Amino acid sequence: MTQANVQPDRGYVTINAEECKGCGLCVEACVPRVLALAAHLNHQGYHPAEYAGSGCNGCGLCFHCCPEPGAITVYKLARVAAA
Ligand code: SF4
Ligand code: SF4
Repeated sequence: MTQANVQPDRGYVTINAEECKGCGLCVEACVPRVLALAAHLNHQGYHPAEYAGSGCNGCGLCFHCCPEPGAITVYKLARVAAA
């Protein structure tokens, strides 16, 4: 794949691992499959969700299916017109 074919991500997510209960709903909901449960445990004894670091499209499905307020935040990136 050439550099010209690489599309920039349209969003990204941050996950507060200590708020996450490791239910996995966000992992199942994410179409580009960029979320996964971590191998390690948080302080509550759950495997928290982790973002792969790229590939998010900003759809927000993970946020809407998450039962824990504050566990996951979605940022939708705006396109900036070239000068
Ligand atoms: S916003 Fe959409 S693409 Fe991004 S991590 Fe959440 S479910 Fe996946
Ligand atoms: S849906 Fe929320 S609580 Fe469940 S694994 Fe994802 S971030 Fe954690």
